Amino acid sequence: MRGEPSRPGEFELIARHFRPLAAKYPGALDLGDDAALIEVRPGWRLVATADALIAGVHFLASDPPSDIARKMLRVNLSDLAAMGAEPLAYLMTLALPSDTDEAWIAAFAEGLAADQAQFAIVLAGGDTVATVGPLALSLTALGQVEPGTELRRNAGRAGDVVLVSGTLGDAALGLRVCRGELAGLAPELRALLVQRYRIPEPRLALGRALVRGRLARAALDVSDGLLADLGHICETSGLGAVVEAGRLPLSPAAQAALAGTPQLIGDALGGGDDYELLFTARPSWRGRLRAVQSHVGDLPITRIGIVTRDSRLTVRTAEGDRDLPAGFEHFR
Ligand code: ADP
Ligand code: MG
Repeated sequence: MRGEPSRPGEFELIARHFRPLAAKYPGALDLGDDAALIEVRPGWRLVATADALIAGVHFLASDPPSDIARKMLRVNLSDLAAMGAEPLAYLMTLALPSDTDEAWIAAFAEGLAADQAQFAIVLAGGDTVATVGPLALSLTALGQVEPGTELRRNAGRAGDVVLVSGTLGDAALGLRVCRGELAGLAPELRALLVQRYRIPEPRLALGRALVRGRLARAALDVSDGLLADLGHICETSGLGAVVEAGRLPLSPAAQAALAGTPQLIGDALGGGDDYELLFTARPSWRGRLRAVQSHVGDLPITRIGIVTRDSRLTVRTAEGDRDLPAGFEHFR
């Protein structure tokens, strides 16, 4: 992004760096036609989601370009996972300041190539434009799901248990490390937390297992923070929930951070960017839960609370219950 621009024209850039990302997808037409042709399995439904990222707002222009690319792809894949969809293809729009050099674009494309291979998704098209503003990126991910099996936010019921995948709070703690906090933590633990902030893991296998195993009633991915996102399930389902703080799944790195500073539990309750799946299920569906667990290997699935009839969100701690007002986005 620095120095004199050394960059070929738009068509040449697309041909060199983006066409290889579309090579395995016949419907991309080698990025050589006016639009892509997307095939969905007969009887399945197309699932579409988009996210935009602006330099200086969502990432720093100095961040590694491959990390920016991978995070952009992965947050969209997380939305597909949260719908229970299988990934198909993505479209990508780049608004590039004139000083973006080709090395930046090459590294950006390398990040995409690595994740395409890992998550079975391909580039199908997009747009590339010049901008007088900051670097701006937008990615639209397309997936497919059997109609009627989509994981929706609004399907929770009173008495459901609340379950979450993986561990919570790592990304928020990783952001603290990036800002120079948590200096007392061992370097390898700090690195793990930063990694979780920079490169989230979309829980695609879990999303598909939830659909096939008919386990989830309501589901979404935790992007804004556990309480805010559980709040979305509660609002759309017209219900409340009790979360037991002592049950929140914490990584060894997060446990080490909390051992020194117990208030950091707020990062597990309120911190964003974890991209775990949060869902509700009938408490009696133990067999279904075991079946789903068997499809996701080591990924833990933890019961952290219960859905209630009144529309309050309550955090239960050793010190007692704490009710959160509606719109608890600003907990922390
Ligand atoms: P138009 O002028 O009709 O919008 P473009 O010249 O912008 O067409 O794009 C030509 C082809 O290149 C299209 O197939 C488009 O999808 C593809 N393309 C352009 N930019 C990108 C990009 N950033 N990523 C992937 N494909 C792109
Ligand atoms: Mg165009």
